[in-house]
Amino acid sequence: MADGAGGDRKSRSVLIAGAGPVGLTAALELARRGFVPRIIDDGQGPAPLEESRALGINARTLTLLSPSGLTERIVATAQPIAHFRIRSGAKILADVDTRRLPGRFGAVHALAQGMTERLLIEALAAHGIAPEWQTAVVAETIADLQKPEVTLRQADGATETVRPDILIGADGAHSAVRKALGAGFPGEALEAYFYLADFRYVRPVDAHFAEITLCDPGMVGRLPVSADVLRYISTLEDFESRIVHPEAVAEKTWVSQFRINFRHVEPMAKGNVFLAGDAAHIHSPAGARGMNLGIEDACWLAWLIAEGREEEYSALRIPAVKQVLKQTYGLTRLITMKNPLAIAARNLLAPLLLRFGPARRGLLHSVAGYDTPKPPWIDWAE
Ligand SMILES: Cc1cc2nc3c(=O)[nH]c(=O)nc-3n(C[C@H](O)[C@H](O)[C@H](O)COP(=O)(O)OP(=O)(O)OC[C@H]3O[C@@H](n4cnc5c(N)ncnc54)[C@H](O)[C@@H]3O)c2cc1C
Repeated sequence: MADGAGGDRKSRSVLIAGAGPVGLTAALELARRGFVPRIIDDGQGPAPLEESRALGINARTLTLLSPSGLTERIVATAQPIAHFRIRSGAKILADVDTRRLPGRFGAVHALAQGMTERLLIEALAAHGIAPEWQTAVVAETIADLQKPEVTLRQADGATETVRPDILIGADGAHSAVRKALGAGFPGEALEAYFYLADFRYVRPVDAHFAEITLCDPGMVGRLPVSADVLRYISTLEDFESRIVHPEAVAEKTWVSQFRINFRHVEPMAKGNVFLAGDAAHIHSPAGARGMNLGIEDACWLAWLIAEGREEEYSALRIPAVKQVLKQTYGLTRLITMKNPLAIAARNLLAPLLLRFGPARRGLLHSVAGYDTPKPPWIDWAE
């Protein structure tokens, strides 16, 4: 690539709608390559630390964020998850040691999404870029896909019309950018609800493992949020009565419930408008892939924009998105099944299979995020 062409590219104006983990990553990846993106968000600031949706940061994300220098900060702040356990009552049916995954990083670390966002904002500030909060993209339709025009509206009602060279919609599941493109969001909503509750304990607990307790039917998952906070997540509305707390509870910090949707947009770009993260795909939290997949979108898109190859974005990302949706769909079906025979077969077979190398390696490989293509711009082994 000629320097001149690279220089011209960097002067293109980029507007990123949404300063969640995906928009912030897109901004950081562009900024470290010499671009000066503008990033706006209709919220007041990053996600609250106590209301964390995403917790799991996988090994692929740590690879992707290494060039920006963020990985060391994440690893220093997050809890490494050393084991996944499947339990039935007091009995441990399977125990997968994630440290057996070969490679530079552990398969998955736990970090509250609000903390991940704060680390991204800090890294972006080092490039002189800050998200503009309380600024929403409002667009009915985007007529000119080559030079997309959108209106930005601030909290006081002031508006501004902008026409960036590149518009990235990282504005979450209800994306205004996706709607303005007239793109559908086909897929399905599962009948099952998920319920979650986060508890802070009076003193630190063992936060180095994640666990699923199989019930008949249903399950209760236990995930670390930090050294003294655990998340319990379940398909059962009355799940809190089934929790065996490891310590005295200091406070319940967050409760939530949500219905699972599996949806993705195709293509993920039209002209110079690109969709990334939850704006482009949503699925179940089983496998902890959503934010990681969105961060991966952002990194690929920034690289392609810097290379002047952004028209390849959708074709390169769609197979990865489909792969992750398929994998999380399978996992979600496994934990939401209701048929007693199927449940009995699962409870018998899943732990048995996980004792064997190939099944265990397959699970670790996908939890680590290694089942999507390796980023070609990173030349060291993961
Ligand atoms: C219970 C639960 C657990 C999860 N656990 C995990 C996990 O362990 N690991 C994982 O990888 N993923 C997980 N996820 C998924 C993860 O939270 C999402 O995939 C992730 O937040 C997507 O990031 P995003 O930046 O695309 O969107 P968001 O985080 O939704 O950010 C979008 C941003 O856009 C802004 N915005 C919206 N509309 C506009 C507008 N019109 N103009 C300007 N700004 C706008 C919003 O304010 C928001 O800040 C979980 C999800 C749930 C519900």
